[in-house]
Amino acid sequence: MPRIRLLMCPEKRRSLMLGCHGNNASTSIRVLSSLRPNMLPVGRSKISKRMVQNLAENICKQVAHFNKGEVECLIREFHVLLEEPTNPARPIRGLDRWKFRGFLHHTFGLTDDTIMDGVFRTFDKDNDSFVSVYEWIEGLSVVLRGTLDEKIKYCFHVYDLNADKYISREEMLQMLRYSLRLPGEEDPYDGIKDLVEITLKRMDRDHDDRLSLDDFAMSVKEVNHVLEAFGTCIPNATRIETFEQRVFQTGPLDGALVLSPVFSAASVGSIATRWQCD
Ligand code: CA
Ligand code: CA
Repeated sequence: MPRIRLLMCPEKRRSLMLGCHGNNASTSIRVLSSLRPNMLPVGRSKISKRMVQNLAENICKQVAHFNKGEVECLIREFHVLLEEPTNPARPIRGLDRWKFRGFLHHTFGLTDDTIMDGVFRTFDKDNDSFVSVYEWIEGLSVVLRGTLDEKIKYCFHVYDLNADKYISREEMLQMLRYSLRLPGEEDPYDGIKDLVEITLKRMDRDHDDRLSLDDFAMSVKEVNHVLEAFGTCIPNATRIETFEQRVFQTGPLDGALVLSPVFSAASVGSIATRWQCD
């Protein structure tokens, strides 16, 4: 196993980290991704720089939309986030649900707990309850720069709360009850039930009373603004630009980490209004 091989001998460990032990890129990524953060130095020493560069090179081969330099910046940003205070009793294997949700809230302005949990589940592809450095960069490539097809799959997975490959009536109700509720307003359950029925009727192309990925994709391609029909899960253009400028242009190790202080209220808007705009 990777962790055991790393402990075998320092020279072999170093060569494996630097990608000199065979040419299997995915093995190198798994090995490096499995390292605990305190095993992967992020300082300016020659060895740590080479390790980050090597990891970036391997990730770059498998993740679209980022060049090697950008992947290096994202690796460093990942480790800056990991170094924030955490529970010392828990082993660190990546960003846990709470750190990841904190990032989504402070940096991307997401506020809906159900949606943020869905984003975490979508990023955490191996379902080990941690977002590894590879999962972090792979997820960001879609969220920040993905194609429409990539974003359709991403949003669908976020909204498929129980991961059964369908968005059910109950899941729509659960997501819209929060996202359409205004501060101080009573639970708009009855109004949202009607809205769910209208939405299901419009998007359920094969009439099986639930949304498959195909149903969702066809609807989004016809009416683009329903991509985030059940809650905001992609940051707006300003948030994306701010994040990219901070991470890619200055680099997280060139200065103190500055998290956006902006806490915007949920701005999902009314699905009913969206339908009326068709
Ligand atoms: Ca994971
Ligand atoms: Ca489902």
